[in-house]
Amino acid sequence: MIPSVLPTYIRAPLHFVKGEGSWLIEEDGRRFLDLGSGIAVNVLGHANPDLVAALTEQANALWHVSNLYEIPQQEKLAKKLVDNTFADTVFFTNSGTEACELAVKMARKYWYEQGQKEKTDIITFSGCFHGRSSAAIAASGAEKMVKGFGPVLPGFVHLPWGDHDALNAAITDTTGAILIEPVQGEGGIRPVPAQCLKGLRDLCDEKGILLIFDEVQCGMGRTGKLFAHEWAGVTPDIMMVAKGIGGGFPLGAVLATEEAAQGMVAGTHGSTYGGNPLACAVGNAVMDKVSDPAFLDEVNRKAGLLRQKLEGLVAAHPDVFEAVRGEGLMIGLKCKIAPGDLVKAGYDNLVITVPAADNVVRLLPPLNLTEDDIAEAATRLDKAAAQAAPQG
Ligand SMILES: *Cc1c(COP(=O)(O)O)cnc(C)c1O
Repeated sequence: MIPSVLPTYIRAPLHFVKGEGSWLIEEDGRRFLDLGSGIAVNVLGHANPDLVAALTEQANALWHVSNLYEIPQQEKLAKKLVDNTFADTVFFTNSGTEACELAVKMARKYWYEQGQKEKTDIITFSGCFHGRSSAAIAASGAEKMVKGFGPVLPGFVHLPWGDHDALNAAITDTTGAILIEPVQGEGGIRPVPAQCLKGLRDLCDEKGILLIFDEVQCGMGRTGKLFAHEWAGVTPDIMMVAKGIGGGFPLGAVLATEEAAQGMVAGTHGSTYGGNPLACAVGNAVMDKVSDPAFLDEVNRKAGLLRQKLEGLVAAHPDVFEAVRGEGLMIGLKCKIAPGDLVKAGYDNLVITVPAADNVVRLLPPLNLTEDDIAEAATRLDKAAAQAAPQG
């Protein structure tokens, strides 16, 4: 008999009842160190007092009105995002997938309004993940995402990740946009080198192509900059944001330049919930913290401490690990064993990690984890690695 919850997820048999900072407490009382943050979401940890205050204050005043009316919390958050990024304008969504939908629509509408209606194709790269809607799975193109869900939305061109020749050869008169994660998340924490992001920007400028960054996972301070592309010193035309921006409350956004957004006039897009007062109250509190340069300095300092410990871990378990990679607190442990085995051993040793593709285990801790948390992370991952190591 089908379970009452549609069985699309493979869930670990863990039942968390409470969270405190970087810690999750199981129903049976066990305390787990959370190095996953609900997949890069809880950027300020669990039950952060400032976020709880922002949420409860708004909850006592007004939850939802719809976008038929002005929403001051939304305008405030949009202004903060505009002031802190390349963007001139912001649309709020509830998720990364919805941000992908709008990014695709916006790019196509731009060229339509330019009178270049043929420029509908969007180039994406192997290992990418942009969500689970019909457009987002078409963007991925991976068989495990699209199989059985056809007809697949047309207009996506899939290229091997990191193949510059294939990219140059793939650009035609119908290319409208390039969509890329500056650091691939689900694909296994694969940062695009800074010079390649610069090269992409140059290519897009030269050929007249919109550049879309998906910073749903790598954005909001995760890599030690507010957005990962800042490390490369280039900016996109359109950017998808979600996960960390709500700190655990469902919220996403599309940021864009005035130029790229010009086709999205009144009536061309909408969302009932998107950017409602509750979500934006929390989003404002998250943004105030995460956009503070002093906070980002601390992220980088802690990332350095954790990285050092992880290099030691990899050296101590050469039969389990191949390498550490990633940027800031978006870290991948490239494994020689099945990553699921290490994640399971982590559960036994009360530490939470997240598997990814390319044989990688992801560490995406709260950005405000403490030095004690980092020491605990090293101890618990060491035990987990010892347990998961091949025998003999
Ligand atoms: C998680 C993710 C998405 C999809 O976000 P949802 O909120 O799950 O819809 C899109 N892009 C990237 C890079 C992601 O990591």
